[in-house]
Amino acid sequence: MSLSSQPILALKPGREKSVLRRHPWIFSGAVEKMPESPVNDGVVRIFSSSGTELGLGFFSPKSAITARMFYWCQKASKPPQSFEQLFHEFLGRAKSERESLGFQLGEDSFRLVFSEADYLPGLIVDVYGKVAVVMILAAGMDLHRDLILTTLQTIYPFDAIFERSDDPVREKEGLSPRTGFAPASLNQAKQITVPVDGLKFVVDFVDGQKSGFYLDQRENRKILMRHCKDKSVLNAFCYTGSFTVAALQAGARSVLNIDSSQPALDRLTENLSLNFTDAEIRSRSSSVCANAFEHLRVLESSGKKFDIVLLDPPKLANSSSQVDKAARAYKDLILHGLKLLNPGGYMFAFSCSHHIGQDLFQKIAFGAALDAGVEVTMVAPLLQS
Ligand code: SAH
Repeated sequence: MSLSSQPILALKPGREKSVLRRHPWIFSGAVEKMPESPVNDGVVRIFSSSGTELGLGFFSPKSAITARMFYWCQKASKPPQSFEQLFHEFLGRAKSERESLGFQLGEDSFRLVFSEADYLPGLIVDVYGKVAVVMILAAGMDLHRDLILTTLQTIYPFDAIFERSDDPVREKEGLSPRTGFAPASLNQAKQITVPVDGLKFVVDFVDGQKSGFYLDQRENRKILMRHCKDKSVLNAFCYTGSFTVAALQAGARSVLNIDSSQPALDRLTENLSLNFTDAEIRSRSSSVCANAFEHLRVLESSGKKFDIVLLDPPKLANSSSQVDKAARAYKDLILHGLKLLNPGGYMFAFSCSHHIGQDLFQKIAFGAALDAGVEVTMVAPLLQS
């Protein structure tokens, strides 16, 4: 099937502007005319209202984002002629870009495909050692699951490919959850020990959160390590302890972990054993299974203080309607986190809520500092890798 004969989606007058500026999303409000024929392959050709062809996008008829562009006609290169060519070319490019960043299969763990950033909207592929964990989050992309899995196997000799397409965001696309090993997977172990920046972690990609591990905190772990020597650290929302292992590796005096998931804390203990044979180092870490919002207050009333406080909560705003409520929750966390900091200490506060921008997050943090009655300096924005 040639991509140049796909059904056509036409935009309202003026709505081609953002497309021409390379914004990849076409919101339902910008659509003048939906395709007249069935979009069997999940891809539409996008046209302006005056009939200019703009490019190609994956189609999501049930979502507020009706299409996500992956090819623009202004591009010097020709559009892919087939889906085989599309996935072969785009996945191959993602691979060579990761290689140019120094990542090699089996030697480290890295995000091989990051959705729109790799012109593959709705597709995420995390590589853990020699295992790929694939998440498909958009309707048009979902139709190409089999081809994606077989093409991935041709670009790298993976031991296994596991599909973890069970993120709740699929509901907005009208998709139900789907998980399981790709047929060609030689090793079907449910969890593996993998290298990440010279440290070792157990990754449970079947039952763990997201794809099993947070590769997006890679650079922030490195920043944390620069500050940890002989310091006391509070790691709230620690999950399986990636920041804890990094802190201890960098010489932290103590780390107190808080998470509401006991399985995550059990894995944290495993991760300590994997990285530190010295029991004295492992004993510097202790964990509490609790609601962090409440436990910060418990620590505060017992007069505890730390040199470094990490706050990495799960997404608190799932939609724009939840922004105010989430902002109050982030402020509460940062406020109580600041009260636990020793003078001169460092806070690492994170938000993974798409709807809370960096600017708003900074305002929330400064508001919390005012309420906590402490002077703060913003040292650096902490971004995802
Ligand atoms: N910092 C971690 C990732 C954190 S993910 C890392 O680098 O790997 C968010 C974590 O918050 C999850 O482990 C989840 O179990 C935990 N969590 C969610 N709600 C919580 C709550 N109210 N109190 C404590 N932990 C919570």
